[in-house]
Amino acid sequence: MTQLALVIDLNVCVGCHACVTSCKEWNTSGAAGPLADFNPYDKDPTGTFFNRVQTFEVGEFPNTQTVHFPKSCHHCEDPPCVPVCPTGASYKRKEDGIVLVDQDKCIGCKYCAWACPYGARELDEEQKVMTKCTLCVDRIYDQNLPERDRKPACVMACPTSARIFGDVHDENSEASRAIRDRGGYVAMPEWGTLPANHYLPRRRTEMSVQPDQLQRAANPLLTDGELPRPLASSPSIDDVTSW
Ligand code: SF4
Ligand code: SF4
Ligand code: SF4
Repeated sequence: MTQLALVIDLNVCVGCHACVTSCKEWNTSGAAGPLADFNPYDKDPTGTFFNRVQTFEVGEFPNTQTVHFPKSCHHCEDPPCVPVCPTGASYKRKEDGIVLVDQDKCIGCKYCAWACPYGARELDEEQKVMTKCTLCVDRIYDQNLPERDRKPACVMACPTSARIFGDVHDENSEASRAIRDRGGYVAMPEWGTLPANHYLPRRRTEMSVQPDQLQRAANPLLTDGELPRPLASSPSIDDVTSW
Protein backbone atom coordinates (compact mmCIF):
# COMPACT_ATOMS: atom_id res chain seq x y z
CA MET A 1 0.00 0.00 0.00
CA THR A 2 1.28 3.44 -0.88
CA GLN A 3 1.98 5.74 2.06
CA LEU A 4 2.87 9.27 1.04
CA ALA A 5 4.73 11.38 3.58
CA LEU A 6 7.32 14.06 4.21
CA VAL A 7 10.88 13.36 5.29
CA ILE A 8 12.42 16.44 6.92
CA ASP A 9 16.16 16.87 7.25
CA LEU A 10 16.84 18.67 10.54
CA ASN A 11 20.48 19.00 9.59
CA VAL A 12 19.79 21.46 6.81
CA CYS A 13 16.57 23.16 7.94
CA VAL A 14 17.52 26.78 8.65
CA GLY A 15 14.18 27.82 10.15
CA CYS A 16 13.46 30.33 7.39
CA HIS A 17 9.68 29.61 7.45
CA ALA A 18 9.46 29.42 3.64
CA CYS A 19 7.54 26.15 4.09
CA VAL A 20 5.16 27.85 6.51
CA THR A 21 4.36 30.77 4.25
CA SER A 22 4.17 28.72 1.05
CA CYS A 23 1.85 26.24 2.79
CA LYS A 24 -0.37 29.09 3.98
CA GLU A 25 -0.36 30.74 0.57
CA TRP A 26 -1.19 27.57 -1.34
CA ASN A 27 -3.85 26.33 1.04
CA THR A 28 -5.54 29.63 1.69
CA SER A 29 -6.03 30.13 -2.03
CA GLY A 30 -6.78 26.48 -2.83
CA ALA A 31 -9.41 23.87 -2.05
CA ALA A 32 -8.88 24.08 1.73
CA GLY A 33 -9.00 27.85 2.00
CA PRO A 34 -9.38 30.55 2.94
CA LEU A 35 -7.60 29.92 6.24
CA ALA A 36 -8.59 32.47 8.85
CA ASP A 37 -6.14 34.97 10.37
CA PHE A 38 -6.89 37.20 13.34
CA ASN A 39 -4.99 40.39 14.19
CA PRO A 40 -2.38 39.58 11.53
CA TYR A 41 -0.65 42.95 11.97
CA ASP A 42 -1.30 43.37 15.71
CA LYS A 43 0.84 42.39 18.65
CA ASP A 44 -1.02 39.10 19.24
CA PRO A 45 -1.48 37.65 15.76
CA THR A 46 -3.05 34.21 15.45
CA GLY A 47 -4.33 32.11 12.60
CA THR A 48 -4.70 28.74 10.95
CA PHE A 49 -1.47 27.14 9.78
CA PHE A 50 -1.04 23.56 8.54
CA ASN A 51 2.69 23.73 9.08
CA ARG A 52 4.63 25.45 11.85
CA VAL A 53 8.35 25.64 12.62
CA GLN A 54 9.43 25.63 16.26
CA THR A 55 12.93 26.85 17.07
CA PHE A 56 14.64 25.99 20.32
CA GLU A 57 18.05 25.66 21.86
CA VAL A 58 19.46 22.36 23.10
CA GLY A 59 22.51 21.64 25.22
CA GLU A 60 24.26 23.77 27.81
CA PHE A 61 26.33 26.86 27.16
CA PRO A 62 28.81 26.96 25.48
CA ASN A 63 27.88 23.66 23.81
CA THR A 64 24.48 24.70 22.55
CA GLN A 65 22.73 24.14 19.25
CA THR A 66 19.76 25.87 17.69
CA VAL A 67 17.28 23.36 16.31
CA HIS A 68 14.52 24.26 13.85
CA PHE A 69 11.73 21.72 13.97
CA PRO A 70 8.99 21.87 11.29
CA LYS A 71 5.71 20.30 12.39
CA SER A 72 2.66 19.28 10.40
CA CYS A 73 0.34 16.26 10.33
CA HIS A 74 2.36 13.03 10.28
CA HIS A 75 -0.27 11.12 8.26
CA CYS A 76 -0.08 8.34 10.81
CA GLU A 77 -0.63 4.78 9.64
CA ASP A 78 -2.85 4.14 12.68
CA PRO A 79 -4.26 7.63 13.24
CA PRO A 80 -6.22 8.11 16.48
CA CYS A 81 -7.84 11.21 15.00
CA VAL A 82 -9.93 9.06 12.64
CA PRO A 83 -11.96 6.65 14.85
CA VAL A 84 -12.90 9.39 17.35
CA CYS A 85 -14.68 11.46 14.71
CA PRO A 86 -18.44 11.13 15.30
CA THR A 87 -19.41 12.14 11.76
CA GLY A 88 -16.84 10.28 9.65
CA ALA A 89 -15.38 13.61 8.54
CA SER A 90 -11.88 12.54 9.54
CA TYR A 91 -10.57 9.76 7.32
CA LYS A 92 -7.47 8.10 5.92
CA ARG A 93 -7.29 7.40 2.21
CA LYS A 94 -6.61 3.81 1.23
CA GLU A 95 -4.92 4.67 -2.05
CA ASP A 96 -2.11 6.86 -0.67
CA GLY A 97 -2.43 6.97 3.13
CA ILE A 98 -3.19 10.71 3.31
CA VAL A 99 -5.31 11.69 6.34
CA LEU A 100 -7.93 14.27 5.44
CA VAL A 101 -10.98 16.08 6.84
CA ASP A 102 -14.21 16.30 4.85
CA GLN A 103 -15.19 19.83 5.77
CA ASP A 104 -18.81 19.30 4.71
CA LYS A 105 -19.18 16.61 7.40
CA CYS A 106 -17.09 18.26 10.14
CA ILE A 107 -19.08 19.75 13.03
CA GLY A 108 -16.05 21.34 14.72
CA CYS A 109 -16.32 19.23 17.90
CA LYS A 110 -12.48 19.03 18.22
CA TYR A 111 -12.46 15.34 19.26
CA CYS A 112 -9.77 14.70 16.64
CA ALA A 113 -7.62 17.56 17.97
CA TRP A 114 -7.76 16.05 21.46
CA ALA A 115 -6.91 12.60 20.06
CA CYS A 116 -3.90 13.77 18.03
CA PRO A 117 -0.76 13.55 20.17
CA TYR A 118 1.12 15.87 17.82
CA GLY A 119 -1.12 18.92 17.98
CA ALA A 120 -1.35 18.73 14.21
CA ARG A 121 -5.01 19.69 13.87
CA GLU A 122 -6.04 23.31 13.48
CA LEU A 123 -9.60 24.45 14.08
CA ASP A 124 -10.41 27.27 11.69
CA GLU A 125 -12.09 29.62 14.18
CA GLU A 126 -13.89 31.54 11.45
CA GLN A 127 -15.35 28.58 9.57
CA LYS A 128 -15.60 26.42 12.74
CA VAL A 129 -14.26 23.38 10.89
CA MET A 130 -11.16 21.32 11.55
CA THR A 131 -8.28 21.68 9.13
CA LYS A 132 -4.83 20.14 8.77
CA CYS A 133 -2.01 19.38 6.35
CA THR A 134 -3.47 17.69 3.27
CA LEU A 135 -0.06 16.73 1.87
CA CYS A 136 -1.17 19.16 -0.84
CA VAL A 137 -3.50 16.53 -2.26
CA ASP A 138 -4.88 19.24 -4.56
CA ARG A 139 -1.40 19.78 -6.07
CA ILE A 140 0.35 16.44 -6.23
CA TYR A 141 -2.23 14.89 -8.59
CA ASP A 142 -2.94 18.02 -10.64
CA GLN A 143 -2.43 16.98 -14.27
CA ASN A 144 -2.45 20.66 -15.29
CA LEU A 145 0.86 21.18 -13.51
CA PRO A 146 4.15 20.10 -15.05
CA GLU A 147 5.20 16.80 -13.50
CA ARG A 148 8.15 18.37 -11.69
CA ASP A 149 5.73 20.72 -9.87
CA ARG A 150 3.43 17.96 -8.60
CA LYS A 151 4.92 18.19 -5.13
CA PRO A 152 3.71 19.84 -1.92
CA ALA A 153 4.08 23.61 -1.87
CA CYS A 154 6.37 23.42 1.17
CA VAL A 155 8.72 21.00 -0.60
CA MET A 156 8.88 23.26 -3.65
CA ALA A 157 9.60 26.35 -1.52
CA CYS A 158 12.30 25.00 0.81
CA PRO A 159 15.54 26.78 -0.14
CA THR A 160 17.76 24.10 1.44
CA SER A 161 15.88 21.04 0.10
CA ALA A 162 15.25 19.97 3.69
CA ARG A 163 11.88 18.46 2.75
CA ILE A 164 11.60 15.23 0.75
CA PHE A 165 8.20 14.00 -0.41
CA GLY A 166 7.41 10.46 -1.45
CA ASP A 167 6.09 6.99 -0.76
CA VAL A 168 7.75 5.68 2.41
CA HIS A 169 6.50 2.15 1.59
CA ASP A 170 8.38 2.11 -1.71
CA GLU A 171 11.89 1.10 -0.76
CA ASN A 172 13.27 2.68 -3.93
CA SER A 173 11.73 6.12 -3.38
CA GLU A 174 13.97 9.05 -2.51
CA ALA A 175 12.12 9.36 0.81
CA SER A 176 12.75 5.71 1.77
CA ARG A 177 16.38 5.88 0.73
CA ALA A 178 16.92 8.98 2.86
CA ILE A 179 15.31 7.29 5.89
CA ARG A 180 17.38 4.16 5.40
CA ASP A 181 20.72 5.79 4.62
CA ARG A 182 20.59 8.68 7.06
CA GLY A 183 18.97 7.22 10.16
CA GLY A 184 15.45 8.62 9.69
CA TYR A 185 13.19 8.38 12.71
CA VAL A 186 9.61 9.22 13.67
CA ALA A 187 8.50 11.66 16.36
CA MET A 188 7.15 10.19 19.60
CA PRO A 189 6.87 6.54 18.48
CA GLU A 190 5.70 5.66 22.00
CA TRP A 191 2.20 6.83 21.07
CA GLY A 192 1.91 3.91 18.65
CA THR A 193 0.31 5.94 15.87
CA LEU A 194 2.99 4.88 13.35
CA PRO A 195 3.67 8.34 11.92
CA ALA A 196 4.45 8.26 8.21
CA ASN A 197 6.47 11.49 8.30
CA HIS A 198 10.10 11.03 9.30
CA TYR A 199 12.93 13.27 10.44
CA LEU A 200 16.58 12.99 9.50
CA PRO A 201 18.85 13.69 12.47
CA ARG A 202 21.29 16.55 12.82
CA ARG A 203 24.88 15.62 12.13
CA ARG A 204 27.97 16.85 13.92
CA THR A 205 30.02 19.16 11.70
CA GLU A 206 33.72 19.31 12.48
CA MET A 207 35.18 22.83 12.11
CA SER A 208 38.81 23.84 12.08
CA VAL A 209 39.96 27.40 12.68
CA GLN A 210 43.39 28.58 11.60
CA PRO A 211 45.40 30.76 14.04
CA ASP A 212 45.37 33.75 11.66
CA GLN A 213 41.56 33.54 11.44
CA LEU A 214 41.39 33.80 15.24
CA GLN A 215 43.62 36.83 15.16
CA ARG A 216 41.44 38.58 12.57
CA ALA A 217 38.25 37.74 14.47
CA ALA A 218 39.68 39.03 17.74
CA ASN A 219 41.11 42.23 16.25
CA PRO A 220 38.59 43.86 13.90
CA LEU A 221 40.34 47.19 14.43
CA LEU A 222 43.33 45.89 12.53
CA THR A 223 41.35 46.22 9.32
CA ASP A 224 38.95 48.88 10.60
CA GLY A 225 41.81 51.26 11.16
CA GLU A 226 42.54 51.31 7.45
CA LEU A 227 38.99 52.15 6.36
CA PRO A 228 38.45 55.64 4.82
CA ARG A 229 36.91 58.05 7.34
CA PRO A 230 34.44 60.84 6.44
CA LEU A 231 35.70 64.40 6.89
CA ALA A 232 34.38 66.30 9.87
CA SER A 233 32.84 68.78 7.40
CA SER A 234 30.95 66.03 5.49
CA PRO A 235 27.12 65.89 5.79
CA SER A 236 25.90 63.81 8.70
CA ILE A 237 22.85 61.49 8.71
CA ASP A 238 20.84 64.34 10.28
CA ASP A 239 21.67 66.64 7.38
CA VAL A 240 20.66 63.99 4.87
CA THR A 241 17.27 63.24 6.46
CA SER A 242 16.39 66.93 6.65
CA TRP A 243 17.05 67.53 2.94
FE1 SF4 B 1 -4.06 12.36 12.91
FE2 SF4 B 1 -2.37 13.82 14.36
FE3 SF4 B 1 -1.50 11.58 13.17
FE4 SF4 B 1 -2.09 13.73 11.70
S1 SF4 B 1 -0.46 13.58 13.24
S2 SF4 B 1 -2.73 11.61 11.28
S3 SF4 B 1 -3.81 14.62 12.82
S4 SF4 B 1 -3.04 11.71 14.80
FE1 SF4 C 1 -14.56 15.00 13.08
FE2 SF4 C 1 -14.57 17.65 12.68
FE3 SF4 C 1 -15.05 16.66 15.13
FE4 SF4 C 1 -12.62 16.51 14.09
S1 SF4 C 1 -13.74 18.37 14.66
S2 SF4 C 1 -13.74 14.88 15.16
S3 SF4 C 1 -13.07 16.19 11.91
S4 SF4 C 1 -16.30 16.40 13.29
FE1 SF4 D 1 1.32 22.49 3.95
FE2 SF4 D 1 1.10 20.97 1.77
FE3 SF4 D 1 3.39 21.02 3.15
FE4 SF4 D 1 1.20 19.87 4.22
S1 SF4 D 1 2.33 19.19 2.42
S2 SF4 D 1 2.65 21.26 5.28
S3 SF4 D 1 -0.42 21.19 3.39
S4 SF4 D 1 2.45 22.75 2.02
